[in-house]
Formats: sequence, structure tokens, C-alpha cells
Amino acid sequence: MEETIFTKIIKKQIPARIVFEDDWYIVIHDINPAAPVHLLVITKQPIASLNDLKTDDAQLIGGMFLLAQGIMKKMGQSDYRTVFNCGPSAGQTVFHLHLHVLAGRQFGWPPG
Ligand code: AMP
Repeated sequence: MEETIFTKIIKKQIPARIVFEDDWYIVIHDINPAAPVHLLVITKQPIASLNDLKTDDAQLIGGMFLLAQGIMKKMGQSDYRTVFNCGPSAGQTVFHLHLHVLAGRQFGWPPG
């Protein structure tokens, strides 16, 4: 996988507003927030997109949602939206797996 801006954030080569970090994930504030709260749960393992997941990644992916749940709880947010954009037509711009976690406003459905 080609290096992305998120790899540089993980390596601390460029700054980010880090909310959480462990051996598997880094969680940052999105630089261009689409809601009052807009976090990105990023895997440290370089996986380009959902299309590149393997069966062995199931725990890693499940962990992203548990992390989102825990952080939203700490931030006092009970209602939030989680989004994986997969592929350019779905809005993916950074090809390093990340889960958007958005909160703090009313969300419409279907999404644009
Ligand atoms: P996606 O379009 O689903 O691939 O999401 C990529 C997200 O990364 C977008 O919401 C961008 O605003 C966000 N983003 C890009 N560069 C940075 C950065 N340096 N720090 C934080 N978020 C970023």
C-alpha cells in the first residue's frame, strides 16, 4: 500500500489532534469536520480500504466500533453516525482504512 497522510500522522511526521492511541489504532479529529464532533478511527496497520480486508482482520475491524463507542460515551454523545467510505465513488479520498465517527447534529438519511 502506498503511504498516505495517515501514515505520516501515525509516524508523527505531521501533526494531528490525537484523541486516543494504542498499538492498533490512532483516533484523531478530522481536519475538515462535517459535524461538531468528527473523529477518524484509523488502523495503524496499512489497509487501503474495506475491499482489502481479510478474514483475519475481523477483530481489528470490530475493535474500531468498540473504540468509537467508548470515545463517544466519554464525550457524552449517545447518538452518532459511523461511516466507512469505500472507493472514490463512495467518497473515499484517503486510502488508509478509517472509520468516520460523527456526532453533535441531526443527520439526514439517505446520506448524500
Ligand atoms: P475519506 O474521504 O472517507 O477518505 O476521509 C478522509 C478524511 O480525512 C476526510 O474527512 C478529510 O477531511 C480527513 N483528513 C485529510 N487529511 C487530514 C489530516 N491531515 N488530519 C486530519 N484529517 C484529515
